[in-house]
Amino acid sequence: MQFSFFRAHGAVRTLLLAAVSAVAGFGLGWGLSAGPLALCRAEDLTAAPDTRFLEAVAAQQDTNVSGEDTAARRVCLTFDDGPSKTTPAVLQALAAENVSATFFVVANESNEKHLPLIQQAQQAGHEIALHSASHKYSDIYRSTDAFWNDIDLLRERLAPYADASAIRCLRFPGGSTNTVSRKYGGSGIMAELKTQAEQRGWRWVDWNVCAEDAAGEKLSASEVYYNVTHGSEGLDRCIVLMHDSATTGTTAEALPDIIRWYKDNGYTFCTISQLYDELA
Ligand SMILES: [Zn+2]
Repeated sequence: MQFSFFRAHGAVRTLLLAAVSAVAGFGLGWGLSAGPLALCRAEDLTAAPDTRFLEAVAAQQDTNVSGEDTAARRVCLTFDDGPSKTTPAVLQALAAENVSATFFVVANESNEKHLPLIQQAQQAGHEIALHSASHKYSDIYRSTDAFWNDIDLLRERLAPYADASAIRCLRFPGGSTNTVSRKYGGSGIMAELKTQAEQRGWRWVDWNVCAEDAAGEKLSASEVYYNVTHGSEGLDRCIVLMHDSATTGTTAEALPDIIRWYKDNGYTFCTISQLYDELA
């Protein structure tokens, strides 16, 4: 099946020099300025993610199964903004239940020392996908060129830990319908980026279930569990947005129960690429 919905939508980041980073004291000399971590914040996430990918998967599967048959139930656990100190606990929870997930990674001064976890995740069978190098909205959404330069930089930084040329999926920081980008790149930048992504052969994806764990206020593990399971009720196909950033340890705590809930409700775990492949 030709996956055509992307077609319905109508890529200069200048690196600071190593000298700057030397002053800032960052190990690999990436030269990014210090300051608050630039990660997904709850208020910047789109409230209306683009779910047409899931609808396309559903339409495809519905030609193969019928009625109340739950054999087609799928869940993709996805983790944004890592790797971080939280990632080992996430990997451990996934390994304990023998399920695969997808990691939309970042690579900047905040998580530089955790990047080897990417290799560990990939070797464990998880999918490594792209999120952003800097994750700074004011930078990546300045222009389409700025966005793609950040992606190129991310791939460069991942190269020691993963086969960056084999990565096919990406998730736009804030989601593909975010509005935070407008003040930097104008109202049409996300539609333009989605078109360009498809033209460049990228598989981009949002979500339809949100753990809301990127909230500034830290959630308890039980609140993360509630958000995920409550948000999944009645859905046969779930793409679950969670985070494995330094501040989301309770998400890792909630993960065993979340996995159990999906298993008890008949879901099969898969990566984003595996779900895309069902459209092939
Ligand atoms: Zn993010």
